[in-house]
Amino acid sequence: CPFDLQAAIQGADNDVAVIIPSKPQALTVTYADLKRETASFQKKLADIGITKSSPVSIATVNSYEFIVSFLAASWQRGIAAPLNPAYKQEEFEFYIEDVKSAIVLVPKGAYAAGAPAVKAAQKFNAAIAESYWDSSKKEVALDVKELGQLKGKPAQPLLKPDADDIALVLHTSGTTSRPKVVPLTHRNLTRTMKNIRNTYQLTPSDRTMLVMPLFHVHGLLCGLLAPLLTGGSMVVPTKFSATDFWPDFISHGANWYTAVPTIHQILLKHPVPNPLPKIRFIRSCSSPLSPTVFHNLEKTFQAPVLEAYAMTEAAHQMTSNPLPSVGKRKPGTVGLGQGVEVAILDLDQDKVLPDGAEGEICIRGENVTKGYLNNEAANASSFTPSGYFRTGDQGKKDEDGYVVITGRIKELINKGGEKISPIELDNVLTRHPAVSEAVSFAVPDDMYGQEVAVAIVLKPGQKGDAEEFRKWVGDKLAKFKVPKKIYFTDVMPKTATGKIQRRIVAEEMLKKES
Ligand code: ATP
Ligand code: MG
Repeated sequence: CPFDLQAAIQGADNDVAVIIPSKPQALTVTYADLKRETASFQKKLADIGITKSSPVSIATVNSYEFIVSFLAASWQRGIAAPLNPAYKQEEFEFYIEDVKSAIVLVPKGAYAAGAPAVKAAQKFNAAIAESYWDSSKKEVALDVKELGQLKGKPAQPLLKPDADDIALVLHTSGTTSRPKVVPLTHRNLTRTMKNIRNTYQLTPSDRTMLVMPLFHVHGLLCGLLAPLLTGGSMVVPTKFSATDFWPDFISHGANWYTAVPTIHQILLKHPVPNPLPKIRFIRSCSSPLSPTVFHNLEKTFQAPVLEAYAMTEAAHQMTSNPLPSVGKRKPGTVGLGQGVEVAILDLDQDKVLPDGAEGEICIRGENVTKGYLNNEAANASSFTPSGYFRTGDQGKKDEDGYVVITGRIKELINKGGEKISPIELDNVLTRHPAVSEAVSFAVPDDMYGQEVAVAIVLKPGQKGDAEEFRKWVGDKLAKFKVPKKIYFTDVMPKTATGKIQRRIVAEEMLKKES
């Protein structure tokens, strides 16, 4: 059983591993190519001084060079630290300082252009290198521009990873507070890879359309690493494009994809391919999928939709709805733990609650990080005495043990002691025929401490009538959950992965008002 990212690349040499559809550099790579390229890039990194625990920041879009440099850094016992290439200089500085990058890998041309990642790397004396597919040499180039802190460092021997080496550091999305730095070991990552393989019964003949960014766990673990463990393959455009999605999916023979609800919703608004390709399953993760979108997706794309629940600290997946051959799918739930122990705990007493009771969702398993970097306060409050990791999400298990997320503990609306789940309210409002998106949040209130507010994006051509929406909610939910404030907005602020940040939505709506 492989416990590191070298042993875990398990495809047959002649099988396809990666397809890059983008022109002019369309590329099809076999497992033999991928392993050879990775070993050769590892040697290039070792030659300039990268060794055990060296943080290697990768600031490139989804690409073959991302995949190769990520794997090579981890094979050399280094720590891959992917960064969103769209960050501004200040953001790069924050992350490069936080993870103490030894080197920052940027795309071709970024150095001469003085790209934000380059300037940020210079500020912290990190080495800077352009990495890209060199089509004339047929290899992934490592074109070193500045050695920075690696200057004078001798070439390092080639190493082999150990299961307990840190392979990856990523930041949480920063939805509830400042992003926290999560180190994940080879063992954490390979555990999740196996869990995902087992949940979806991935085989060498499966091919995924990888449209989630590789600088977050969703794309990295489910889109890239789990398929590599199973000898399957992936189609990797630089980013999600609603117009290219189905042409790429069909022409390159993909049979499943995983994405956030925002992407599913965009696909539902675009023309549906005719005939439809055969889709083995569609996975939805990282944000709540409303039952309405679940049903629309299944109907439109004629495929089972499996909603999963994941977080950075768990190396992605914690629970998922099962394949149809294994069990039933329950919209509005995130399914069952697989390879991960999930318990609902009473917050104050560290006590496991019975099914049906609401508490904090807590997890235990080989996939879970040992603790945040440089954040003693968060570490002290994140693990329970019985060794569970506290997700910060509120939820319960239903009569079949399926996990239902009812909200984030930090985001619950507390109206004079009545706790209101913003997700429940969002789901009721998105069932209204005029509503495209609804995001509920708390606003300060003199009387109750907090009041219920909601931001609504209407469907094209619809008119917003606050009274009508209040009545809609009042018919379906208790009166105290009816939103006092309703804001209409054209766009909902979201993170790079399409996540809703209630905190930011609240700030923007309140700003508009004042
Ligand atoms: P931060 O921890 O910095 O506040 P974050 O929790 O958003 O940010 P991530 O690790 O990217 O950072 O996201 C994990 C969270 O995403 C989970 O704790 C949960 O709240 C939410 N989430 C993931 N999957 C789902 C899902 N299927 N339904 C509802 N929420 C989900
Ligand atoms: Mg979190």
